[in-house]
Amino acid sequence: MYFTTEGLVLRETEYKDADKLLTVLTKDRGKLTLRARGVRSRSSRLKSGCQLLAYSEFTVFENKNSQLVDEAVPIMLFLPLRQDIEKLSLASYFAQVAEVLSQEDSPSPELLSLCLNALYALSELDRPQTLIKSAFELRVACLAGYTPMLDGCAVCGAAEPDRFHVMGGVLQCANCLLSDDPGVRLPIHTGTLSAMRYITGCDLKRLFSFQLGEQGMKELSDAAETYLLAQLERGFFTLDFYKSLKI
Ligand SMILES: [Zn+2]
Repeated sequence: MYFTTEGLVLRETEYKDADKLLTVLTKDRGKLTLRARGVRSRSSRLKSGCQLLAYSEFTVFENKNSQLVDEAVPIMLFLPLRQDIEKLSLASYFAQVAEVLSQEDSPSPELLSLCLNALYALSELDRPQTLIKSAFELRVACLAGYTPMLDGCAVCGAAEPDRFHVMGGVLQCANCLLSDDPGVRLPIHTGTLSAMRYITGCDLKRLFSFQLGEQGMKELSDAAETYLLAQLERGFFTLDFYKSLKI
């Protein structure tokens, strides 16, 4: 039986002689493991559409034991990010996060759209990497069910508190410290808070269309990364690699 689906290659693993196993986030079928036969041979017609971070239209032959790629027509290859090791490693981090947060047989079109938007921004738009990374992290946390409460101080209700409580995902004022709460609180100035509110509430197409000064960007970067890792209770080797390039 054949079916056709559009999907983004999140991971590739070498398999047997010249095959690859692809982890693909599809538009309508959730996460799939597809086997691309002979794709590592020089003449394979599947090569382009089956590479890591390619967004392709896959025609898949399904039998009892496996799903085989019959055809893979590239839709977006994000070529500029393949020529830049920092961008490529950041994109690989996005892909690993998406793999962790997606499930088989459970379509997550918003997660796919977020990934495609982030890859497009990295590849084609002249936006700072830190801005793209932070916006992706905070927005993907929301998609995973960890939307932070950014309305006001969780203790006194003040509108513009200046601390972000990472584990709780809430705002607090510097003075509104609960005595029995040892959680990490990061400083958040007004501009940073506005950016966080924007990222969690804006139209996905406008996700990377905000400005922030140097200090605000640093605060946002710390808050978004720390928050995502804390909520997911894990790290990512792709993130470690990306950060090792920035030192
Ligand atoms: Zn307060």
